[in-house]
Amino acid sequence: RVLKKKGVSQATLQVAVRCRPLTPTERSLGSRPITRLVDNKIVVVMDPQPNHANHNVYGKGKSSAAQKREKKYVFDAAFDGSCDNREIYGKTVGNLVPGVLKGLNATVFAYGATGSGKTYTMVGSNMDPGLMVLSLRDIFEHIDRDTEKQIDVTCSYLEVYNEIIYDLLQPTAAQRGLDLREDPENGPQVAGLRRLKVQSAEKIFQLLREGNLRRRTESTDANAESSRSHAVLEIVVRRSDKNHYAKNVYTGKLALVDLAGAERAHETNNHGQQLRDGANINRSLLALANCINALGKRKKKGFVFVPFRNSKLTRLLKDGLCGNSRTIMIATCASADTQYNHTVNTLKYADRAK
Ligand code: ADP
Ligand code: MG
Repeated sequence: RVLKKKGVSQATLQVAVRCRPLTPTERSLGSRPITRLVDNKIVVVMDPQPNHANHNVYGKGKSSAAQKREKKYVFDAAFDGSCDNREIYGKTVGNLVPGVLKGLNATVFAYGATGSGKTYTMVGSNMDPGLMVLSLRDIFEHIDRDTEKQIDVTCSYLEVYNEIIYDLLQPTAAQRGLDLREDPENGPQVAGLRRLKVQSAEKIFQLLREGNLRRRTESTDANAESSRSHAVLEIVVRRSDKNHYAKNVYTGKLALVDLAGAERAHETNNHGQQLRDGANINRSLLALANCINALGKRKKKGFVFVPFRNSKLTRLLKDGLCGNSRTIMIATCASADTQYNHTVNTLKYADRAK
């Protein structure tokens, strides 16, 4: 899968984990942190309940009781509360941007339970702008340095909800789902999707915030506000030689995806419409996991079938997951003891994706 010796930027798939700090509310309720990092790549999780059923899976080895309560997972990179978005950007997406400017495709997605920090990582705040904003800023910095070429940058922001695509840059009222079509030359195209020409990174932050308010959220028993949609920002960088003797145009795409909450359907007490939502979200997440596994095998075995067609999300992301494109998964988890199950589920999923 990964050509580690050539450095992270050469990997086709990089898996990073971010453990967010306790929120003020969690602190005030007396939660304790249960995650710690080793060497910036290993996440250690402590089972907060010593008599938990999981206790037995470690068998009768010589390890101490404390070790039995711990699970360890190794990733390409791991971050904790001491890292801001800028630092995470520098160690992940920042490595992909030069390739995108040369015409390569890349996809970055945030995977984790509701409340684990996906939107914080992707969109962020004024104080700590997220990966979407930092990517655009970085792209414009590269462009400013490169006076030889003509470069334009466009963006679209959409959500996949219940396997239907909606435009997050247009008012929600009267919006019908948009069709996804395959274009042999330009890859998957969403008919009627608004595509903005971006002149600077600063304006996009407000648009992302407004777009996020349009996302379809619904309360479930597990969480007050569980996002049931996948949000995808696609940045397209088109670069052509300024003297037009021969027309050299390179198109690179960077997709940044804030996935729906990963809490599994059986953990929420869902009924009716909500159950259907849960099933579809799992379909997209499962399809994504299957594609990523297949891509890993392709690296080792040559050609394998990659099941892109199984969900809207994977059809949409196809260009950024195949060929010589790069993919980064940032798995987000809360460090609070109350989130133990979600954290372990997220880390297991991320571990399988490697
Ligand atoms: P998600 O999008 O996964 O549901 P959010 O990004 O909305 O989760 O984060 C949930 C809460 O945790 C928010 O209040 C957010 O401000 C806070 N939070 C998330 N990540 C961090 C972080 N790295 N540092 C500080 N606060 C964070
Ligand atoms: Mg969110």
